[in-house]
Amino acid sequence: MQLRRNNIEQLATETFDVLIIGGGINGAVSAASLAAKGVKVALVDQGDFAGLTSSNSSNLAWGGIKYMESYEFLLVNKLCQSRNRLMQSFPSTVKEIRFFTSIQKGFRYPPFLIYLGTILYWMMGRFKTRAPLLMSRKAIKTREPAVNADNIAGGFEYSDCYLYDNDARFVFNFIRSCMNYGGIAANYVTVTASKREQGYWHNTVLDTVGGREFSIRAKVLINAGGPYVDQLNRQREQSTTHHHLFSKGVHLIVDRISDSDKVLTFFASDGRLFFVIPMGPKTCIGTTDTQVSSPEVEITEQDRQFILDNINKLLDLPRPLNRDDIIAERCGVRPLALEGEDGVADWVKLSRKHVIEVNHDDQLISIFGGKLTDCINVGDEVAERFEQLNTGVKISQANAQWRWYGEPSAAEKAEFMHQAELMELDAMTHPSSSEPLTTRLWRRYGINALELLERIRENPSSAELLIENAEYLRCEIELAAKREMITKLEDFLRRRSKIEQVVRREDIVNAPGLRDACEIFFGDEAEQKMQQYIDSIKAQ
Ligand SMILES: Cc1cc2nc3c(=O)[nH]c(=O)nc-3n(C[C@H](O)[C@H](O)[C@H](O)COP(=O)(O)OP(=O)(O)OC[C@H]3O[C@@H](n4cnc5c(N)ncnc54)[C@H](O)[C@@H]3O)c2cc1C
Repeated sequence: MQLRRNNIEQLATETFDVLIIGGGINGAVSAASLAAKGVKVALVDQGDFAGLTSSNSSNLAWGGIKYMESYEFLLVNKLCQSRNRLMQSFPSTVKEIRFFTSIQKGFRYPPFLIYLGTILYWMMGRFKTRAPLLMSRKAIKTREPAVNADNIAGGFEYSDCYLYDNDARFVFNFIRSCMNYGGIAANYVTVTASKREQGYWHNTVLDTVGGREFSIRAKVLINAGGPYVDQLNRQREQSTTHHHLFSKGVHLIVDRISDSDKVLTFFASDGRLFFVIPMGPKTCIGTTDTQVSSPEVEITEQDRQFILDNINKLLDLPRPLNRDDIIAERCGVRPLALEGEDGVADWVKLSRKHVIEVNHDDQLISIFGGKLTDCINVGDEVAERFEQLNTGVKISQANAQWRWYGEPSAAEKAEFMHQAELMELDAMTHPSSSEPLTTRLWRRYGINALELLERIRENPSSAELLIENAEYLRCEIELAAKREMITKLEDFLRRRSKIEQVVRREDIVNAPGLRDACEIFFGDEAEQKMQQYIDSIKAQ
């Protein structure tokens, strides 16, 4: 909480080169990229960082194989390069995974033709992943007994990547990088108005936790409001060539329904791609793709039924899944960039590319569309556009070339692993854990995992598992309390970690360690924050 208090104070008193509205993936990478170049960055989000679209994705870093059907080969080629770059830069977080795809009889293309497409896809990915594999119906059933093979013509396996922890944690790490480079970020701060006067944007903002209204002054404004980009531009009387259309997507999380460590892929009853994705000890299924006119959406019974009906049809389950099997849900709108106003798009063909528009006179940059997969390009391109503005901000050659993304070097990882090995840390791995403790700590905290080792040396009991089923040690909670701007309990449970996605809420609330965690996060306010969380669950 101290970090947030300090940052709010600085936002209110200092003048910035740039204010970024929105801490989803587009805002977060823009912030990290610019801050690393020495630009004085402020970033605010009206909710928690990644609290909107960027915590409701399918958690995939993928080259967009499905856009090949609409002949968008250039986009797919670019996304494959972006995926490769993420995979190489974040080897612990962005992992290759096999997509095990079954094609139903009578589908619009025969399996062999789609398989040829996967070979082209693999080539566009410069062979950086494992090669695709064609499979007969029999081979599918033998290798993946969970798949209902009754109506299957054949299938294939190919590779893409997924975000091992979750999308929101991935996004937060860019926010944290921005702060490491001197950027000032705060969650739960809404920009209510912005006015350009004498070469500066004067932004009225409201801290919705502290209740304080103040102003943030910055030369440049970046509108990274995701689904709210158009609304924010309209309020600032900005006209743009591109606008957003919205597509609602829902995922359901259920107990593990297949032992497979692959993504099972099908074409749902509406002809669109449908995934069964491993999510730690659980399975995430979806998604829907429904055109909606507003960014404010919620899950309907129809959405749930669509997903449950499809999964029950496509998999051979011991019993059909029903509503009671749902542990958690995810729902968001994809902001899709479209040229022109009120366009009528071919919905399936509408691509997920990003567009950056710049108003040089008003020094305002708007980011439309995009994907988590393409985030490094967005960060680089926003920095290029910023440099083309006439701001008077000088970026040194050394700062301009700074690599603002990626995990620490292999040598730093080896140092951490060596120290952890000498402390016999892996012997402390909890029996229920899916991976060695050292692997998990490195992936979550990178170089800051060394600080955890120090805490454990000082106090070995800080290595105890604090929240049952959640794979979080006491020392991790202490580190998160200091560095991760956890303002509400759900920030930690839903976005910094994926606890709320894999443990039922009623079990979380009754977990013995939760009260201890609350005390570490919120001190004297622990009881109040815990009650706030319980009330928010009841209200849903
Ligand atoms: C169902 C679904 C599945 C997807 N799957 C994938 C996938 O597997 N892989 C992939 O690469 N991409 C995927 N995507 C796309 C990807 O998630 C989005 O493109 C991306 O998250 C959009 O990020 P953003 O930063 O533009 O928007 P957001 O994450 O929505 O961020 C915008 C932020 O702006 C803030 N904001 C708005 N107005 C204000 C204001 N006035 N003041 C302060 N803050 C404000 C909001 O609170 C919000 O946090 C998926 C999307 C959906 C919906």
